[in-house]
Amino acid sequence: VLPVVAVVGRPNVGKSTLFNKLIGQRLSIVEDTPGVTRDRIYGKCEWLGREFMLVDTGGIEPESDDIILSQMRRQSELAITSANVIILVTDIKSGVTSTDMEVAQMLMKSGKPVVLCVNKVDNVGEPPMELYEFYNLGLGEPFPVSSVHGHGTGDMLDEVLKYL
Ligand code: GDP
Ligand code: MG
Repeated sequence: VLPVVAVVGRPNVGKSTLFNKLIGQRLSIVEDTPGVTRDRIYGKCEWLGREFMLVDTGGIEPESDDIILSQMRRQSELAITSANVIILVTDIKSGVTSTDMEVAQMLMKSGKPVVLCVNKVDNVGEPPMELYEFYNLGLGEPFPVSSVHGHGTGDMLDEVLKYL
């Protein structure tokens, strides 16, 4: 059985874009409308000769009463339970939100290793100042990534492999 790496975070941060980039296929639907990925989607991924299953999730909105959003949340919780490592995806453009804080707390309680991905860092070069506020999530070093361009995914996956 392959180890499982779950991609979680609130809607619209770019989880499905990252998932597709990492598995090298367009399996997951990318949408500007939050909440398109409702079910868990699995894809095989390989980095430096190590294979694992990557799981895309719908996104977590902790305070929602909406049925679809709460089902997405449930799917994310199931993915977290079955995962060996979790990639928490956040978004440099929106900064750290209260939802990111809540999801980070929930992940810490799960006791699973978490790798913090700060997505949408599209410009190569020096990491932007905005990256530093992500240390406030309490999950250690934030890894800047551009899922659209593929920048930064290697360093992030190196970190994931440490826990596999
Ligand atoms: P999800 O809801 O977390 O799965 O987010 P999606 O993957 O569906 O992406 C939401 C939006 O963010 C889409 O418009 C994507 O094109 C955009 N997006 C995703 N990754 C990046 C990125 O690295 N840079 C930029 N600029 N936009 C991105
Ligand atoms: Mg998605």
